[in-house]
Amino acid sequence: MIRFDNSYARMPEGFFARVDPTPVSAPRLLALNGPLADRLGLDRDALTVGMLSGNAVPEGAAPLAQAYAGHQFGGFVPQLGDGRAVLLGEITAPDGARFDIQLKGSGPTPFSRRGDGRAWMGPVLREYLVSEFMAAMDVPTTRALAAVATGEDVWREQGGLPGAVLTRVAASHIRVGTFQFFAVRDRKTDLAALTDHVIARHYPQADGPLALLDQVVAAQAETIAQWMSLGFIHGVMNTDNMAISGETIDYGPCAFMDVYHPDTVFSSIDRQGRYAWANQPNIAVWNLAQFATCLIPLMGEEEAAVEAATHSVHRFAPLYQAAWLRRFGAKLGIEGAPNQALIERLLGLMATQRADFTRVFAGLSDGTARDEFLDRDAFDAWARDWQVLSPDRAAMAQANPRRIPRNHRVEEAIVAAVAGDMAPFERLFAAVTHPCDLREDWAALAHAPTTGQAVLQTFCGT
Ligand code: AMP
Ligand code: MG
Repeated sequence: MIRFDNSYARMPEGFFARVDPTPVSAPRLLALNGPLADRLGLDRDALTVGMLSGNAVPEGAAPLAQAYAGHQFGGFVPQLGDGRAVLLGEITAPDGARFDIQLKGSGPTPFSRRGDGRAWMGPVLREYLVSEFMAAMDVPTTRALAAVATGEDVWREQGGLPGAVLTRVAASHIRVGTFQFFAVRDRKTDLAALTDHVIARHYPQADGPLALLDQVVAAQAETIAQWMSLGFIHGVMNTDNMAISGETIDYGPCAFMDVYHPDTVFSSIDRQGRYAWANQPNIAVWNLAQFATCLIPLMGEEEAAVEAATHSVHRFAPLYQAAWLRRFGAKLGIEGAPNQALIERLLGLMATQRADFTRVFAGLSDGTARDEFLDRDAFDAWARDWQVLSPDRAAMAQANPRRIPRNHRVEEAIVAAVAGDMAPFERLFAAVTHPCDLREDWAALAHAPTTGQAVLQTFCGT
């Protein structure tokens, strides 16, 4: 049995719509995350296929779809919300931490607009792999507890595709867009209630909206610096896809760079490069400014509130810069040393020589990094200056994954899964959730794609 305590279901009218998941015809378990179930204190026997598919709502759950708004690619949409997900409820882990248990792909809700409320197996398995890799690298992220095939097809541009449901776990699913939903409607009492809820749940040290803003800014600066240090590109950093908790959320067309270039974009719909790798910190600031705008009405006299909120958002830059230096410093084993110019020189060399991001950093500790460069002399010159700082190899080994969920491997796992073979998924999952281990049997999964294998574009394809 799962002990739910559903605090969001106790929020005022209009925060959500009560809706049960829509049953599916032939649910079949694709993956269950045992270690995560243990960490959450969930009895594995309680995690039945019936529950994980939405066919059986467990006792104590209070399924609901959350309302939110959001800026999508810069354009404001006042009414979004969970269109293909339901929050089953919240649980408290043995360490006292509260978590949302959500089914994604569980059928239509009042917020589905024209969508079918479903997900296909591809994005479900992609999110499962990528979010669990992120968790293994200690990046704040939602987690994947289970994936279930529905036995039903969903219809997308590509035709009929096998449907699936992801069980997603998050500190909460409250987004910048959740605040925007109430702010745009001038619902100040609801905004205040949401603010109190978020402070109690995520930032109990914060003594009001300004302190909350400060903390969200700080949390996002850390998270984005971690994305950058892994070559991660979220792909849809809309304000409805930015969590107040600081967790990475809504893995859509996300991908990791193979070859390093700061302008890299994968998402087929991001034609202007708004969410390119190097632009992610700027977009985070833009999103946080939207969050700040929502909080200003709660911050007293307007002119002073605007000034304080602006100051708070501007703190992102120095916090991010410090986090970036710490992360990349750790990647080079020279955290704490004056290292910015050295890091930038390496990245510059990598960009001009189209070096593989992950392999260069992983190869620094075992001497194979230079193989990733065409102009070895240029790399050697850099490496001499680096060695002078006596890099800490043990720190580097923990900071640099050898294996990431590379696009071509993720797609290979999805193709096999669609054909009924979960073995490639399971192997990739094991390899990327132990990303820093030296393991000969996983060596192939550390290879960069060949020209023919490289995936150049990813699709929302939800
Ligand atoms: P996303 O960009 O994937 O975060 O989704 C943006 C909005 O579209 C959210 O409100 C989603 O709930 C909604 N949405 C995405 N896919 C579907 C779908 N297949 N059915 C219903 N709503 C969807
Ligand atoms: Mg979303």
